[in-house]
Amino acid sequence: MLEFAHQEHVKSYYLDSRNQTFELPPLSQQEEADVCVIGAGFFGLSAALELAEKGKKVIVLEGARVGFGASGRSGGQAINGFEEGIDEYIAQVGFDKAKKLWDMSLEAIDIIDERIAKYGIQCDWKKGYATLALNERRMDDLIEMEKASHATFGYDKMQLWDKAKLKQHLGSDIYVGGLYDSNSGHLHPLNYCLGLAKACLDLSVQIYEQSPVVDLVEKSGSIEVKTDKSAVISQDVILATNAYIDALPKSIHRGINRKILPVESFIIATEPLDQATADSVINNGMSVCDNNILLDYYRLSADNRLLFGSDSSSEKDMVQIMRRNMLHVFPQLENVKIDYGWAGPIDMTMNATPYFGRISPHIYFAQGYSGHGVALTGLAGRIIAEAILGNDERLRIFEGLKVPSFYGGKSLKNLATKIGVLYYKFLDRYR
Ligand SMILES: Cc1cc2nc3c(=O)[nH]c(=O)nc-3n(C[C@H](O)[C@H](O)[C@H](O)COP(=O)(O)OP(=O)(O)OC[C@H]3O[C@@H](n4cnc5c(N)ncnc54)[C@H](O)[C@@H]3O)c2cc1C
Repeated sequence: MLEFAHQEHVKSYYLDSRNQTFELPPLSQQEEADVCVIGAGFFGLSAALELAEKGKKVIVLEGARVGFGASGRSGGQAINGFEEGIDEYIAQVGFDKAKKLWDMSLEAIDIIDERIAKYGIQCDWKKGYATLALNERRMDDLIEMEKASHATFGYDKMQLWDKAKLKQHLGSDIYVGGLYDSNSGHLHPLNYCLGLAKACLDLSVQIYEQSPVVDLVEKSGSIEVKTDKSAVISQDVILATNAYIDALPKSIHRGINRKILPVESFIIATEPLDQATADSVINNGMSVCDNNILLDYYRLSADNRLLFGSDSSSEKDMVQIMRRNMLHVFPQLENVKIDYGWAGPIDMTMNATPYFGRISPHIYFAQGYSGHGVALTGLAGRIIAEAILGNDERLRIFEGLKVPSFYGGKSLKNLATKIGVLYYKFLDRYR
């Protein structure tokens, strides 16, 4: 049995503030579909929505609950660009395709704007995001990033902020400056995910919860997608299983799990802050990440809680460690209570490059968003839908990006991730 199957949502601030609840039945009898999507997170639902809008019959199979995975637990920060520098992509695929990749990363933000407006999704979507540097060398990286996007691609929504300008909006002394982007933003991820699911249901997408897929059998002209209780017979299949790919049998993942190194990330939510305290933290509504490899990310929720996240390797005393991290940034919160703490796996690739493609002509996948999944999953859904509908031009650009494989079993992978995390901690401290 898959370890995450048949579970309920993790306890979190998002769960307690969700604005709709639905419990969808498990798949109990054989069904037929044009496209069967495995996994009801942002990506699976985005693909389902795009395909349903074009008249395809879509069935989504979710092993636990809609938004159970990273999508319903994330920091909610929708950030343009990619974790890997765009110069690397220019070197790999040439200027024109790298420019298309950059433009697609901006489209990923537009998709959120469009869907919220079109389907009336209530998810506290707010624009404004800053990447912050903890030392001058890291500030140089931000200066380079601004140059690359502005001079190379004409993007004019980013502003470099020195320490004094940053202090006007952020109540912390630990940063030397930042790069503010007025187009990226943040949202309540579980409410956005549930909103996407509702939009799918309204377009007659069938979504089955508590329906873990345990096998995929390719036949001539169709694919049998077997759950633990029944099956869907489908023309095309989309694997939208994200960091859970490692838990799946080989007949499903066919080796693409080698591209993902899941890194655990943690978030704490404070009690609601009074307005003066909230303003002493962030006074312009932006969300924030530092530019370490293992980073801190945070923002205020709609009810003025500080949602503070960090990537780490330890699961012991998580809330205490996170509280210490938070107080390092905002000592003024010493007397503030922590109401929630939760965790989830981030789908990193070894070079932080997203990994989209197909494992056979009718089985598609997208994963490895490496910290940019809130935005890029929407784009991935659109691109995979386009390919299924006959135009794979944009998918082929992503397929041209290099993503190294990790060879070794699951325990070696866990060990490698832990060593990787320690190595990244070392780099963050000393570079
Ligand atoms: C704590 C945390 C903070 C994060 N913060 C940010 C952030 O601020 N910004 C950002 O851009 N990204 C962030 N991320 C990453 C981002 O959330 C993910 O990249 C994104 O949500 C991936 O969406 P997805 O739909 O691919 O996967 P998921 O949301 O993980 O969905 C996969 C789904 O597939 C289901 N599934 C798996 N296998 C099967 C099977 N065999 N049968 C049926 N169902 C199956 C799972 O139950 C799950 O619901 C964060 C992640 C975490 C965990």
